[in-house]
Amino acid sequence: MGACKRCGKKGLFLKLSAIGLCTDCQQRYDIEIPRENEIIKESLKIVQSSPNLNTKISRCELIIDTLKKMKNFGGDFDVIHDIGCDTGVDEMLSMYEDLYQILSKMKNNIETVILECIDQNGPSSKQSFIDYYNSDNTKYIRDETDDDLIFDISKTLPDILIEMEGHLDIKKNKTGSKYLYTFFGKE
Ligand SMILES: [Zn+2]
Repeated sequence: MGACKRCGKKGLFLKLSAIGLCTDCQQRYDIEIPRENEIIKESLKIVQSSPNLNTKISRCELIIDTLKKMKNFGGDFDVIHDIGCDTGVDEMLSMYEDLYQILSKMKNNIETVILECIDQNGPSSKQSFIDYYNSDNTKYIRDETDDDLIFDISKTLPDILIEMEGHLDIKKNKTGSKYLYTFFGKE
């Protein structure tokens, strides 16, 4: 007697699909899983190709959320295995969680560079952060970034500066026609 791999429904005349699902579960599978699989594939392309580190991070988060949904599809039924991946959903999850940690560390390093630049040089422009990031001073930080995860500092910096302003780590002052960033609470 067959039983649905997802909901456990069983019966002598229960019709199971090729992957062992009852009609209802198979229907849900057909609606959800190919779409989620597509989201993961598209997001991975963006993680690999986007020049903006923040975009990489948010797409990596989306992959993790989507994998969690796929994991919750049902019981012991490993959806990921089923769509032709060698690895199971748990392995995929821990892989992308590791990737998320690496990307977050890369972002933390940029925040460190920004604070270090202000500390060394006083109020600094966006361009001076970029120059400082590319200078020998921060070689130790650039060496930590993963070569597979190339990003463009000038495309990444604006988002990070906005976030740091939001967290009151730094603030922006207009000096002449230029915006200069300094520590929050300092002139
Ligand atoms: Zn079922």
